[in-house]
Order: sequence, then structure tokens, then C-alpha cells
Amino acid sequence: MKLLIVEDEIQLADALTEILKRNMYNVDTVYDGIDGLDNALTGVYDGIILDIMLPRMNGIEILRQIRKERISTPVLLLTARSEVEDKINGLDCGADDYLTKPFVTGELLARVRAMTRRKGEIIDENRLEYNGLELRKNTCSIIYGGNDVKLSLKEYHIMELLISNPRQILPKERIIEKIWGYESDVEYNNIEVYISFLRKKIAVISAPVQIKTARGIGYSLE
Ligand code: CA
Repeated sequence: MKLLIVEDEIQLADALTEILKRNMYNVDTVYDGIDGLDNALTGVYDGIILDIMLPRMNGIEILRQIRKERISTPVLLLTARSEVEDKINGLDCGADDYLTKPFVTGELLARVRAMTRRKGEIIDENRLEYNGLELRKNTCSIIYGGNDVKLSLKEYHIMELLISNPRQILPKERIIEKIWGYESDVEYNNIEVYISFLRKKIAVISAPVQIKTARGIGYSLE
């Protein structure tokens, strides 16, 4: 699950990043409005945590622009207690939720979970499942029929993407954007290496699931 944090208070931004990473989110963090807008416009995020008062461009304007471009990424606004007006404005402009600073970690995580909740495939917050194969967040592992095997963080993120979009071909470019980021120089062979690790691990636990290659395009979980 890939998140964007746009927050100019560096300490807060870095603390948020740390907390979310520890909770297995793949996080990009930027500290001003223009960078926030540029990143948000890529459309690769599953959720955006957006401060309102930002240098160069404020959060409401960012929100307005991304919605104008028909990017429907869920947005959680961070507001100061004094910014009631902005809060209302933000919700009117297409924010999904807001969180008033200061907040406790548990509330942030609950809001982020709510914001990024998808329908259907989630058993609970810690587990995703496809055809009996479970991906568990708390242990960073896949499980089938009582057998489990640990995944590396990158393998976890790739598996999460596949299991959230079963039977759909995920283009390699999209996997790179989601897992490594937009400006990364990851080669296609890197993905192939991770996919082959994942296939071996799926085979180890004998799960009736396979990662198929769509030649020249990408991969799908079948
Ligand atoms: Ca701010």
C-alpha cells in the first residue's frame, strides 16, 4: 500500500513516515506544496496525507487540482485546530477525511486504514487472501494450509499489489511506480528477480496460486 505524505513540519512528517513504514506502508514524503502536487498527480498512491498550510501551494489548492485532473486517490487532510474554515473547504473540494493536529498514533492509523480500505478481499486489517493463500501484515509472511514463509519487505509490497488485484495483469511499469517510485532506475530484471523469489516461496507452501507472466507486459496472480 503506497502513501504520500505532504507536510512541511519536518519533524512531524518524519515521525509520520516512520510510524507508517513500521506498519508496512510504502511511504513517499515531501515537504512542500509543489512537490506534493507533482507527486499526487502521478496517481500511483493508494492514499495521501495532506497538510493544509504548506509553503508554495496550500493543501486545499493541491486537492482542487488533483480532483480537477480526475485523480480519485483518497485524501486525509491534516488540520490545525484553528483551521475550521479550511476543513470545511477541504471536504467540499473532495477530501475524504480530516484529522486535527495534534493526534495520537492510533487515530492516525485508524484513519489511514479507513481511507485505504478496499472492498471484498480484506479479511481483516492484517490479512489479505486469495484462493486460500493469505498475506499477513503483522508477520510479513504468506501462509497456506498451516505452512508459512517470511517475505522481504519488497516481496511483501509486490505480493500485496498482486493479491489486491487478482486475475488482472499488472504492467511492470505500474509495479515499478508503486514499489520503487516514479523516478527510480529499477530495471525490469529487478522485478523478475523478486517475482521469481515470490514464486519459489509460493511453491514452498504449496499454495494453489501462481504468478503468471504476461509476456512483454507484466504479471498476474491466478
Ligand atoms: Ca503546515
